[in-house]
Amino acid sequence: MKELRVAVVGSGPAGCYAIEELRSHSNVVHVDLFDRLYAPFGLVRAGVAPDHQDTKLISNHFSETLRDPRVRLRLGVEIGRDVTLADLRATYDAVILAVGAPLPHPLAIPGSRSLGSHPVADFVGWYNEHPNHVDHEFNLKVRRAVIVGNGNVALDVARFLLSTPDELRWTDASDTALDALATSEIEEIVILGRRGPGQAAFSSAEFMGLIQRHEVAVEPFASEVDEGTRVLADVADTPESAFKLELMRTARPLSGVSKRAVFHFLSTPIEVVGNPVTGLRVAQTELVNDHGVIRAVASSTESLIGAGLVLHSVGFRGQPLDGAAFDVSTGTIPNEKGRALTSDGHFDRGLYVTGWIKRGPQGVIGTNRTCAAETVASILEDLALGTLPTPTAADNAPAGADLAAWTRINIAERNRGRAAGRVRVKLSHAEMHAEATVATRKAGDAKARP
Ligand code: NAP
Repeated sequence: MKELRVAVVGSGPAGCYAIEELRSHSNVVHVDLFDRLYAPFGLVRAGVAPDHQDTKLISNHFSETLRDPRVRLRLGVEIGRDVTLADLRATYDAVILAVGAPLPHPLAIPGSRSLGSHPVADFVGWYNEHPNHVDHEFNLKVRRAVIVGNGNVALDVARFLLSTPDELRWTDASDTALDALATSEIEEIVILGRRGPGQAAFSSAEFMGLIQRHEVAVEPFASEVDEGTRVLADVADTPESAFKLELMRTARPLSGVSKRAVFHFLSTPIEVVGNPVTGLRVAQTELVNDHGVIRAVASSTESLIGAGLVLHSVGFRGQPLDGAAFDVSTGTIPNEKGRALTSDGHFDRGLYVTGWIKRGPQGVIGTNRTCAAETVASILEDLALGTLPTPTAADNAPAGADLAAWTRINIAERNRGRAAGRVRVKLSHAEMHAEATVATRKAGDAKARP
């Protein structure tokens, strides 16, 4: 069978699992992995919460994958800026976009852009030292923060805000964020869900992680909530949601804790008040059963939650990329089993997708494994059918920083961490660039040596 040369764009879990899958096929002779950052692993590095270092260990497994001699890292190369997608497609038999969903789903209410009101992606990127987010500023010298949305990202952020800097000092969290935590005056974090406890988006595992270490309260429903809504709010249609309801009922206060998280349900945000923020106006919701889907509808009962920080944790969206179709309603690239489609619904031959840009922002890291397997199976099917386009152009993308450069950066970060009693202290983008330049020069010198 014909040999296959593939480009993978994005080195997060989706891209790494795609490479792992590609490696298992002998006719895959070469894979180039592009990422705009100098550090691979995407959300494993810059999304997973610092106190979940065990989850971040998956990067050791991905590192093994990247050491395959057929795989070449091309870090610090951004598709659309340094090379066009069209040029990339002309160079490889197949291009897999594993570019994730980097944009915040907008919280479309008045005042959402006021000072002190932020998309949660900015906050997560800030405490994880993502180069695009290190310059954000968050005022933690406020008594109450509200997180809109109650998914696992909201719980990650709540745990961070409830922690002391000493509890996180050993991790790879940014020094700036740890310093802000040291002077934080936050006593209460309100986690706002527009539907009921039965529809809470967080997982039972993450809720357990929260209640085991932190003070958690579940706010009772207001007396005026109608009976139909009360019933729907407690509907648990899966064993997981039944278990979550049980956990919420049995959560007990801890003693000697000065900060707490409070879950409010049946509350939807309608206005961020003040600039800088002084509060969030919310409407009580009524639940309706819309053809089997429980939906929240705002009622006329409103109240104000006083808060100096509002974080919008209402999901993410993919970013359109020149040269690929984009579905604005889902924030994904339209596809069938990972085969990208054109805007008029035809197969966009040679272009594939995996991860959040393919299926939307849902699922845990491991979900990307089956997602990538499906996409790679589609590529191999197309190869067998002879429907892959033939590459027509020479490679004109920048070489980028390779595995040697990343190894150099990784060692530098670990050494800094070791010296400070931490797992890792991340390098800034400029420092990574400098390390990558040294690695490239050394490789050039070694090649030039007779
Ligand atoms: P998510 O689980 O989809 O939660 C989004 C939350 O925002 C839901 O509570 C949703 O409420 C709410 N929401 C959406 N639009 C809203 C609006 N206009 N007004 C008010 N509330 C609104 O998203 P996520 O927390 O960003 O997580 C993304 C994925 O990553 C999830 O699959 C998650 O499990 C995964 N993840 C996993 C981990 C882990 O396993 N440790 C950690 C982080 C993330 P409705 O339910 O009513 O729509």
